[in-house]
Amino acid sequence: MREMQEDTIAALATPFGESAVSVVRISGPAALDIAEKILRPRGRTAVKEWKSHSLYLAEVWDAEGKEKLDEALAAVMRAPRSYTGEDVVEIHGHGGRLVCQEVLNAVLDAGARLAAPGEFTRRAFLNGKMDLVQAEAVADLIRARSDAARRLALRQMEGRLSEKLERFKERLVGVAAAMEAAIDFPEEGLEIDEDWLSPLEEASFLLGRILEGARGGRTVREGIRVVIIGRPNVGKSSLWNALIGEDRAIVTDIPGTTRDVLEEEVTIRGVPLRLADTAGIREAVDLVERIGVEKTREMLRRGQVVVVVLDAAEGFQAEDRLIVELAEGLPRVIAVNKTDLTEQRITEEELKRVFPGEPLHWISVKEGWGIDEVKEAILQKALDGLGVEENEWLVSNARQERALRKVQECLDSAIAALRSQMPLECVQVDLREGLTALGEVTGEALDEQVIDRIFSDFCIGK
Ligand code: GDP
Repeated sequence: MREMQEDTIAALATPFGESAVSVVRISGPAALDIAEKILRPRGRTAVKEWKSHSLYLAEVWDAEGKEKLDEALAAVMRAPRSYTGEDVVEIHGHGGRLVCQEVLNAVLDAGARLAAPGEFTRRAFLNGKMDLVQAEAVADLIRARSDAARRLALRQMEGRLSEKLERFKERLVGVAAAMEAAIDFPEEGLEIDEDWLSPLEEASFLLGRILEGARGGRTVREGIRVVIIGRPNVGKSSLWNALIGEDRAIVTDIPGTTRDVLEEEVTIRGVPLRLADTAGIREAVDLVERIGVEKTREMLRRGQVVVVVLDAAEGFQAEDRLIVELAEGLPRVIAVNKTDLTEQRITEEELKRVFPGEPLHWISVKEGWGIDEVKEAILQKALDGLGVEENEWLVSNARQERALRKVQECLDSAIAALRSQMPLECVQVDLREGLTALGEVTGEALDEQVIDRIFSDFCIGK
């Protein structure tokens, strides 16, 4: 696909520290020469004769052959059947800090260059072993903090989304090619707008479906942002702590003392919940006065789910009403706290009038009642209608989503041009632009800088 890299790179593929085994990975045209220089096989077969993808026992020596450094198992993965598509050698040595450092030094002294973060995967991408969606999924898989994110990353790494996009691209290319023919040979009589409209509309619909999944993909990967609001002293910080399961936020009796916005993460059924501990509604009331209800709501909207906390012992008050109004129309979970107290001023009838048809969660943070139900309700609210479970080809990252939205804009503009009987040449321009944007998703049409940025996010040795 693209030209091979000339230099040979090496890095520690396992974390630096004490472990049973550590792996030094070498990739590039000189990988075998370097291995030959520093490895002395125990058996009779010379390194260069080693069978691909087999483990051999060898001593590791420094590049000058003066000192034995380790005993290791080593394997050669010959191009193009390797992760990077180049000749790769892996040395599985002992995982001591000094040992693995020395082995890596020997490899570098023997002619390799220390790899930059993600450089192995970058080479895999440049050598056509995987597209960009798959390469990004590698990083996602390594970083996945929840089961759902792990599964999603694996599916993308296997190329499910890539396949889908490839098929989508073929369709578009088909239309573009036929259109080209119609432009070049108008006498063939192909210029009937209706014939062009339906495949484009179909493509736009399909892309819409893919993009619908993007929100779910982001949720799975990045977690659900949860905002807890309520009057001072209703128990927001206490609930936050209970959901987190650790005493992290400062709980206090003085109204309105929780000022800093803290964010913590817990995983529920495989999906991370990111809990922002917002300052009490005292601040929200100030905010409303300062910037207005709409702006405050806009701030709340940054959370995907809003938990409204009420105090059962104090009754429903004017400030509560303001909060309820702020959370109107947002995905919200209503938690009525302090149900352990004997005096209960809030009544179910009253709340049913305020929240018609909405489930109410009667909880006591103090006694630990109803916390799991609140967690579950948050999860359900966030996942409602996202189709996360059944969707096979979720777009999970913002870069991919942005590029796909650009594709959709181009498609829609092509459709509009056709409808208003613009010349096919104009439609063609939009289509080409759409195809370029599509190429950005998989990495066929990306500039060097973007690629650099993507791979610099990887860890060293991957
Ligand atoms: P915030 O201002 O809304 O963040 O409220 P806090 O979490 O600081 O709680 C205010 C007070 O209510 C503290 O004294 C908590 O111990 C108390 N509190 C919180 N939850 C409960 C509960 O379920 N029952 C009772 N009895 N007290 C609670």
